Amino acid sequence: MSGGHRARKRFGQHFLTDTHTIDAIVRVLAPQRSDPVVEIGPGLGALTGPLLDHLDALTVVELDRDLAQRLRGWPRVRVIESDVLQVDFSALATELGAGARPPAGGLNVIGNLPYNVSTPILFHLLEHVGAVRRQVFMLQDEVIERMVAPPGSSEFGRLSAMLQWRYRMDKALFVPPEAFDPPPRVDSAVVLMQPRSVNELGLPPGVTEAQLQPVLQAVLAAAFAQRRKLLRHSLGTWLAGQGVDTPFDLQRRAQEVDVAEYVTLAAQVLTQRG
Ligand code: SAM
Repeated sequence: MSGGHRARKRFGQHFLTDTHTIDAIVRVLAPQRSDPVVEIGPGLGALTGPLLDHLDALTVVELDRDLAQRLRGWPRVRVIESDVLQVDFSALATELGAGARPPAGGLNVIGNLPYNVSTPILFHLLEHVGAVRRQVFMLQDEVIERMVAPPGSSEFGRLSAMLQWRYRMDKALFVPPEAFDPPPRVDSAVVLMQPRSVNELGLPPGVTEAQLQPVLQAVLAAAFAQRRKLLRHSLGTWLAGQGVDTPFDLQRRAQEVDVAEYVTLAAQVLTQRG
């Protein structure tokens, strides 16, 4: 219990109480006063208050009606009571005057995310990556380890490949369960995610990022469907089904292939499908 609010398990509520951790997270975002910043899941406002010390204004997205109601009284805070998965971040960027695309413009998104929906939130934001400049998220440590895992390591998977294609990512901080009330059963960490510029994405001429993204997701889903087997059993069958002819070496396992090779393969699938 914090401030008379009983933490709701179904909303993944674990409230930050450790002030050193809170200050460190704000330092990772390092906002300028006029930056457009959106906080996901402000809860009781553990990060909201310290963020406001550095900002002229802040937009927060909170699903829990009671918590959203409490935050409505805060000066300089705009509350969006919603499931963050329903928020159109591209429209929000325009509304907040986030200006040109990154690196000059774009939203700063921060949050101690509800762990039960953290992967869907990351994929939702990927759909709006063109509107984002920086993302700073507290997540389960194990998830961040997978996000930053290099190809060839046992943790390298779909999530790693997809996010590494689109972002530069750094694990900024490890956070033990004692930093929260109630303490989660897992370790946590903070990741800084910065979208790569479009010319870093390895797109072949005439192919846009919006066209490639869903195909790359499908390629990765097929490749990692059976990660212990050679790719010819999983990805090979899928490629044959798509009628794709490729020199791609299928005598490997999914986690042995680096991101650039998956991107090249996705571009081949896209062009051969017509
Ligand atoms: N930021 C606060 C802190 O650090 O103490 C709370 C963090 S708590 C881990 C996650 C917060 O996200 C809760 O306030 C919860 O109600 C909210 N939340 C859960 N699911 C959500 C969703 N789908 N959309 C928006 N907020 C959500």
